[in-house]
Amino acid sequence: MADRRNTQAINITENSDPERYDLGRRQAQCALERYHYLCAAAQEAFTLERARGYRLFVRDVVSFDNYTAYALDPVSAKLHPRPDGTIHPGDIEIYVNSIVKNYKCSEGGIMYAIGDSRTFWNMVINYHSSAGTTGIKAWDRLFRQLKTSGYDKGIVPCMFFATPFGCNDPSCSFLHDKEKCVRAREKILARRRTTLGKPTPRDIAAREKVARKAYEASQRQVVLHKGSTTDGSLSVLGVDDDDDDDIDPELMKIYEDSAKIKAICNNPACLLTKMKRGTGEQGNSFVKMKVCSGCQMATYCSRECQTADWKRHKKEPCRPFKELVEDDSMWDDWGLRVGTGRFSFAK
Ligand SMILES: [Zn+2]
Ligand SMILES: [Zn+2]
Ligand SMILES: [Zn+2]
Repeated sequence: MADRRNTQAINITENSDPERYDLGRRQAQCALERYHYLCAAAQEAFTLERARGYRLFVRDVVSFDNYTAYALDPVSAKLHPRPDGTIHPGDIEIYVNSIVKNYKCSEGGIMYAIGDSRTFWNMVINYHSSAGTTGIKAWDRLFRQLKTSGYDKGIVPCMFFATPFGCNDPSCSFLHDKEKCVRAREKILARRRTTLGKPTPRDIAAREKVARKAYEASQRQVVLHKGSTTDGSLSVLGVDDDDDDDIDPELMKIYEDSAKIKAICNNPACLLTKMKRGTGEQGNSFVKMKVCSGCQMATYCSRECQTADWKRHKKEPCRPFKELVEDDSMWDDWGLRVGTGRFSFAK
């Protein structure tokens, strides 16, 4: 069999670099264990112990008593096969999405993905059901090929080879496919560039908030203008405070459209002016946008807007585009730039 390892695999001996030797040894141990989980998954050499009781906290258990090639610890995860063993297609879609969007899964392949027990085992259960698929064609193919090849490690992508720290095990027998790794990395970066070309979920949320407030204010104006009241008490006059979704369909359309393009002022408060089309100095949308010199990405209609938005924008953060794309630490497991999700979670 041809040596699948490429030159990137470092030839190390115990004496050359103790730290690296130790890292390689631990990598090999980790990969070996995951390989056996993978084999057990492909062979269906596992049993499920369904949890009873309050489902929110109780976890199901996957046990491997039938798998004899290697001692595998049971795995606990929240599993939800339907009576025929299939997983709801909508759930499979979510799992697949979480794999596809996670750059670490692109780098580490299926052996990395095994670490997310809930995702992995639900997909495996679906594979062995009448549905017959994990949701990812390449995984289905790998499961079949594992069987026909006698569980050849050489067809399973090494989970460290494409990572920044590389595979440090000189005797690694998993697949080291350099071209494939380069292609995968390019795909990750391309996806990030597309993501950066669009407003962030937080941008959109900020715009929605402004649009909603503007609409509510305009509704109050209307009510006041009709002369029904002069003291500003509105509750009796039909402004429905309970309905948060009460929003001008025209505004709705504008911010839906604005979610698709970046050529709009980055200052969330500015959208307000744009929405009043035909009124005010910047009433129509044809303002020539200036681009932020920091990131070459955020666009502003004016210096005032840039100044007003700086406090928010610098935290996004504002950094050179290339840096944002290539710095892995800027990206979360959902393919979003860190800190730009719709909701922020306390750490
Ligand atoms: Zn390797
Ligand atoms: Zn910027
Ligand atoms: Zn503006």
